[in-house]
Formats: sequence, C-alpha cells, structure tokens
Amino acid sequence: MIKRYLLAPGPTPVPSEALLAMAMPIIHHRSPDFLPVLDAAKKGLQWLFQTKNDVLILCSSGTGGMVGSVNNFFSPGDRALVINAGNFGERWTKIAHAYGLEVREIKQEWGYTVKLDDVEKALKDDPSIKGVFVQATETSTGVYHDIETLASLVKKYEDKILIVDAISALVAHDLKMDEWGIDVMIGGSQKGLMLPPGLAFVGISDKAWRFADRAKCPRFYFNFKKERESLAKNQTNFTSPVTLIIGLNECLKLLQKEGLENAFERHRRIANATREAVKALGLRLFSQESSSNSVTAVIAPDGLDGQEIYKNLRVKYGITAAGGQGQAKGKIFRVAHLGYADTFDVITAIAGVEMVLKSMGYPVKFGSGVAVAEELLMQ
Ligand SMILES: *Cc1c(COP(=O)(O)O)cnc(C)c1O
Repeated sequence: MIKRYLLAPGPTPVPSEALLAMAMPIIHHRSPDFLPVLDAAKKGLQWLFQTKNDVLILCSSGTGGMVGSVNNFFSPGDRALVINAGNFGERWTKIAHAYGLEVREIKQEWGYTVKLDDVEKALKDDPSIKGVFVQATETSTGVYHDIETLASLVKKYEDKILIVDAISALVAHDLKMDEWGIDVMIGGSQKGLMLPPGLAFVGISDKAWRFADRAKCPRFYFNFKKERESLAKNQTNFTSPVTLIIGLNECLKLLQKEGLENAFERHRRIANATREAVKALGLRLFSQESSSNSVTAVIAPDGLDGQEIYKNLRVKYGITAAGGQGQAKGKIFRVAHLGYADTFDVITAIAGVEMVLKSMGYPVKFGSGVAVAEELLMQ
C-alpha cells in the first residue's frame, strides 16, 4: 500500500464533513427537501464571493463557467481584451474565438503578472473593447494578477466589463467582488472550495446583467438569465447536482466557522512557507513577481526534468502535485496549498521534494527546506 497525498492545484482534498454528508441517500431536486439546501448554498456563496447578487451554480467543471461567461454577455464580433499570461489565459482566447468574438491579447511572458499600464493603454486606444478577461491566479505559472487595480481601470467605462476567472484563487485570495467592482467572477468546486470536481460558480454584477440583455451568442445549457430565474425559486434549470451542493454547504460551513480573513491568512502563511522552503533548497520560483497563495510553481534544477520530479513524488511517495503545462512542461513542477490545506501539507510537500531531488542526484541537505518551513509555520 502507498498512502496518497493530494497536493495538486485541483482537484484538492475533501474534508470528511463533506464526504460524509455526500454519502447520504440522494434527494430529489424538485422535492421540498432540496429547497433549503439550495437556499443555504446560495447565501453561502454570496458570502464567499463578497457580493449581494446571486451566484449561479452550474453543473460543470470550472471551464463551463468560463464558457457561460463568454456566451451570456457577448455577441459574435464583440471585441474582447484577453490577458494571456499562461495556459488559462490562453483558454479565454480559445473560448472567445469559439463564439466568434474578436480577440485582442495582452501577452505576458509566463511567470510575470500583467502590466497595468498595458491594460490602461489598450482600453484607451480601443474604445470597441467590451470585455476584459483575466485570471486571478494563473495556475500554470503561479502568478496572481492585481484584480483590485484591474477592476478600478475597467470600472471607469460603462460599456466594458471585467470577467475574472477566480477558479483557483477563491478562498486563497481576498476578492471583494462588489467593493472592487468585479463584474463576473467564476469559481470551481475542486479548488479552494474543497469539493470534488463538478460545480462551477458565477457571480454577476448588475452591470454585467445589462450586458446579458443584449448578448446574442448562441446558448442553451448555460443560460444565465434562466438560471437566475430558477435560482430565485431555489432551483436550477436542469437536474441539480444535489450531492455536490450538499457537500458545498458543509464546506461553506467550515469556511464560515474559520472566517474569510482567517482563510486568506492561512493560505498566505502556508504559501509563504512553501516558497521560502523551496528557495532554501536552492531552487527558484517560476513566478518572478506577485506569487499566488494557491499554488507554487518551482523551476526544476538544471539537468532535471520537472515532469520527472512530479512523477517521482507520486510514484515513490504517493504525493500527487503537478507538472508544468504548455510551454512550461518539463521546466517546472507545482505544489498546491489550496483549500483543505494546512501546516503539515507544506511539511509533507517539502520533505517529499527534498527526498525526490536527492534521489535524482541534486545535492540536498535533508531538512534544510523543512526547517525553514517549520520556522515560518510556527509564526
Ligand atoms: C482549474 C482551473 C480552471 C478550470 O478547469 P476545469 O478543469 O474546467 O475545472 C480554470 N481556470 C483556472 C485558473 C484553473 O486553475
């Protein structure tokens, strides 16, 4: 037997409270049993998204929420500004193209955050831009984009909205949807929310709902206006993922007990310890600035393959972290500290990295990364 540790940037471990609740017999989504369940989920999500508006619950992986955020707010031919700083930024471009939007990209070298001047300039130069698409955490590079400032830039324009893929950032980063003026914010169940894969969440501002009234892209399954009408009756349009929503309520309860600020602080603490520990091992971070508190991307030492490090962690020690994606494949490996994660997940990850690197011939003084992590985790 090999004991397994899930330290990937999604899916993430699920707390037993949620697992147990999800083991209960299935209830019917149109029966009165389900109404209070969805009502609680609705309220909990508003709290988490820091918004007074409804947060839609979709039965899909996170990308479904991204797709719906393109075809519910825009029409073919609309101009989109995509901040492309990694694999998930690239996904925005692909989805926008699939629905016939015209895309202008701000391409950022991987490992860096978007330059706010570039965004400000693009918005001024190009009055036809209707939507700005970005990730909060670009999971492929471990970088966090400054969403608060981006929102302040887009907010100045009545005819533009900001769409934030916060799928891997929610719970790890403070994202004040209403206060900052984020128009559309997307979450996913299998990341900071500590659930199995299968749910996407979309928070929507009043301004974005006005865009939805005019949008002409084709849509059927993800029809946000219809979802909103259903949600008002504590229903979803189609069969609700009842089991996952029951689990969601358990995870929201755990987070409410902890408090939002404390959850952000926990992620700050474990992310910082992870980063400092890998640096103490002589490794370099892939994120050159503004590192995310959800995931740490580490450059593989010279001569070592990042995919091999990732594979050895899993095969030798049962630790499922992540490799690189796209152009970073082979160059990096990634360790998540997201969701149901705390002090000893960091220790496990760093100890595993030390042992794997040693076995691959990299000079490691055992415990040198762990010691730094321990110091920081005790603070
Ligand atoms: C995980 C992730 C997604 C969604 O991926 P799915 O596989 O569709 O759940 C989207 N954006 C980011 C930044 C992610 O980390």
